[in-house]
Amino acid sequence: MSSATETQTTVAKKVKKLKPARKQVKPGDVEKKEAPQTGKEYNIWYNKWAGGDREDSYSNKTKSQTRCNIKKDAGLTRANTTGVKYCCLFFARGCCPYGWECEYLHTLPDASTQLPDTSKDCFARDKFSDYRDDMGGVGSFARQNRTLYVGRIKETGTGPETEEVVKRHFKEWGEIEKIRVLQYRSVAFVTYVSEQNAQFAKESMACQSLDNDEILNVRWATEDPNPESKVSEKRRLEDMGREAIQAKMDPRIVDAMRAVRALEDGDVLNDDVQVEELEDPEPGAKRRRLEVEDAEQEEQEMDIPEPEPPKATGLLNADTLESLKYFKEIRQRNGTANVLPAKAVPPPSSTGLGLAGYGSDDDD
Ligand SMILES: [Zn+2]
Repeated sequence: MSSATETQTTVAKKVKKLKPARKQVKPGDVEKKEAPQTGKEYNIWYNKWAGGDREDSYSNKTKSQTRCNIKKDAGLTRANTTGVKYCCLFFARGCCPYGWECEYLHTLPDASTQLPDTSKDCFARDKFSDYRDDMGGVGSFARQNRTLYVGRIKETGTGPETEEVVKRHFKEWGEIEKIRVLQYRSVAFVTYVSEQNAQFAKESMACQSLDNDEILNVRWATEDPNPESKVSEKRRLEDMGREAIQAKMDPRIVDAMRAVRALEDGDVLNDDVQVEELEDPEPGAKRRRLEVEDAEQEEQEMDIPEPEPPKATGLLNADTLESLKYFKEIRQRNGTANVLPAKAVPPPSSTGLGLAGYGSDDDD
């Protein structure tokens, strides 16, 4: 019999000694709200449409009907015999009707075990190449993020008091590294030691209350404040960019870049085909043009006329654009002139811990 004073971490580590997981709800207990189609394919397991990665503002402002209680709810499931390493999303939300019959784990994610597929989160959901604009959803495989943005907190005390409240509610989902409260702004940032616990907590605390009957808005923080992880992430992204160039570059782009380089070196193009090939097949369809940066500076340096700026639509896919962007940075570092696309690539969201983009906090 585990005593009530045992910490959640201890419970997670003693998974082998756990009793069978209890069924958190009876089938039909939870009022099923019709899931709006936001994707292409309906996923019964997650009760949502896959591929859209979007949640409507209504569901984000309705208080969750259930909440997971690790002490009462955690236990053994079929996953403990089949070896499935992923957690049950319904368990995290407090509404799995299957209990010990569930095919997924009904325990906190074990931070010491590596998930079999790093492109998935601890619930086996596919991560995306980038975050959603509102920083909700599953998150990105391009960056390790252990920090949650927690909005719509009803503050009733001082900053340190709010921090205690946040800590009491969020430590249930894993070991916390640090909490930062923005007093008078209804916002806290919670950093977990492990990314998997942050993933779990994000689902467990979505639309839950702290002490004051609020409906929390839990999203990914835009930037991990840990400088070490920033550096290693930067290095990893650079490597990915280099591989993308080697693997995904369209031969036509290689030709186009050769032409650009020739212009930089002062060679006159001996045919017009290069430029024509880059013309948009459907002019005006989309305004994703490859802008020539620093065009004026360019004109001072070269005595030949500027060619029509090449356009992106239909020729460059997103990966190639990323590659070009990376290539441009390399060239800038080497001090070479800069004639590669910049504005065609959406700028990375680098708002730091700013609150813009999370939405739905100012309109309460
Ligand atoms: Zn389950």
